[in-house]
Amino acid sequence: MLENPKWEAFRRDVLSAKGATCEECGSTYGLQVHHPYYRRGCDPWQYKTSEVRVLCREHHMTAEKLEDSALLAFWAAYCRHGFKFLQNSIVSNITTARE
Ligand SMILES: [Zn+2]
Repeated sequence: MLENPKWEAFRRDVLSAKGATCEECGSTYGLQVHHPYYRRGCDPWQYKTSEVRVLCREHHMTAEKLEDSALLAFWAAYCRHGFKFLQNSIVSNITTARE
């Protein structure tokens, strides 16, 4: 997928729109485009530049780990409280992440 020309063009647009530095530490090395969430049926380049983040390799990995643990916490709460928990939660971001 990384060689997909559409993805390459999107990545270039994001870096020029948001600045080619890590949003966490300002690093200009090893920059990657991070999706905080995914939408069903959307290709990775079909997002607004404001929806994605520019992160260095290290902060990209940290961000993915944090989101994985948020997802685990969500499912743990869902198992304990069932459907009631779902009704009381804003879950749109979490449920569309990682499929
Ligand atoms: Zn960084």
